[in-house]
Amino acid sequence: MSYLKDFPNKEGYFGEFGGAFLPPELEPHFAEIEQAYLRLMRSADFLSELRYIRKHYQGRPTPVYYAHNLSADVGAHIYFKREDLNHSGAHKLNHCMGEALLAKHMGKKKLIAETGAGQHGVALATAAAYFGMECEIHMGEIDIAKEAPNVTRMKLLGANVVPVGFGGRSLKEAVDSAFQSYLSQADEAIFAIGSVVGPHPFPTMVRNFQSVMGIEAREQYLEMTGELPDHVAACVGGGSNALGLFAGFIDDDDVQLHGVEPLGRGTELGQHSATMTYGKPGMIHGFKCLLLSDEEGNPAPVHSIASGLDYPGVGPEHSHLKTTGRVSYHAINDDETLDAFYKISRREGIIPALESAHAIAWAMKFGRDHPGTTILVNLSGRGDKDIDYVTENFGHG
Ligand SMILES: *Cc1c(COP(=O)(O)O)cnc(C)c1O
Repeated sequence: MSYLKDFPNKEGYFGEFGGAFLPPELEPHFAEIEQAYLRLMRSADFLSELRYIRKHYQGRPTPVYYAHNLSADVGAHIYFKREDLNHSGAHKLNHCMGEALLAKHMGKKKLIAETGAGQHGVALATAAAYFGMECEIHMGEIDIAKEAPNVTRMKLLGANVVPVGFGGRSLKEAVDSAFQSYLSQADEAIFAIGSVVGPHPFPTMVRNFQSVMGIEAREQYLEMTGELPDHVAACVGGGSNALGLFAGFIDDDDVQLHGVEPLGRGTELGQHSATMTYGKPGMIHGFKCLLLSDEEGNPAPVHSIASGLDYPGVGPEHSHLKTTGRVSYHAINDDETLDAFYKISRREGIIPALESAHAIAWAMKFGRDHPGTTILVNLSGRGDKDIDYVTENFGHG
C-alpha cells in the first residue's frame, strides 16, 4: 500500500482539492478530532475494538457474490460486494461506528449530524445506541415529510430529530443548522460527517474507515477466482462507498477503477447530479472539490432518482483521482437505474438501493460491450427504503 499513505498531504490536500476552510471558532475542534484520529489509528486497543464491532455487531466480512444470472444475461462476469448485508443495510455504518468509537475515546457523549434522505441519520443513530451516546440529527422539514420511515427509524433508535424550517428546508439548511448546534456544544459532542466530504480530516477518516470493504473484497475475490477483477465499480454521491472499495485495488495498476454518478433526467443543469462529468473546481461546506455551480458560483440545484447521490459537490479525493486519470467516471440516468433495479430484483433475488443500482446499471452496459470481462461492483445498500417510491411511481417492473 503506497497510495493510501501518500494521499492526502498533512494539510488534507489531494492535489489541489480538499483542505479545511473553517470558521475560526471551529478550528480548534477540528484540530482536536484530527489529533485524536492520528493517535487512535495507531492504538492497538482502538483497532481491536473496531475489529470486534465489525465482526460481531455489523456481521462483517460481507460476502462477495457472483451474480450468475445477471452475468449470463450480459455476457460478462459481474460480482457484487454485498454491503446490503452490513448491519442497518448499507455501507454507511462502517464509518459511523468508526466515528462513534473515536468520539468515545475522545470522551464525547453526543453525536451530531445532518441528514438528507435519512440514511446517514439512521446509521449514526444505530452507532449512538450501540455506544450509549446521545444523537442529534438535523433534517429539513421537506425531507422529514418525504422520508417518513427513516425518521421513524431514527426515533426508535433513540435519536433526537431536529426539524429545520428555514430557507429551502432541505439538506443545505440541515448542514447549517447542525454546524450551529455543534458550535454551542463542541466540548461534549462530535460532528459526524456522512461521506468523504467536508473539511479535513473527514475525507481521509471516512475513506480509511470504509477501506475495510476493499481490503475484504480483494482477498475474497482472489480466493474465489485466483485473480483480480479487470474492473471495479461503485456509485458516487459524496464518494465514500466508492473510495472504500477502491482502497483495496488502487495500488493494482491492472485493475481499472470506475465511479458512476447520476445523470438524472438529462444533461441540463438542475436535472442531474453528475459532478465529476460537468463540475468545475469550487468550494462547498469547507473544502475544495469539483462542484456543480450556477452563474454566481453558488452550488447548483441537483436531481437524482437516488436521494443519496444528489449532492452538488463530491469528495476531494475523487476530484483528484479524476485529474490523475486513475479512476474513470461515468454517468447513468434515472431510466437506466430503474431498469437495473427491476432486473437485479427479478434475476438475482436482491432488491438494491437506487444508489447501488446506478453502479450495477453501468456494469451491465459495460459488460455487454466487453464480453468475458470481470467486474466487481459495490452493492452499497439494500433497496427496502426505495420500494414504496418505485412501485407508486413506476409500478412493479
Ligand atoms: C448514502 C448512500 C450512497 C452514497 O454515498 P457515498 O458517500 O457516495 O457512498 C450510496 N449508496 C447507499 C446505499 C447510500 O445509502
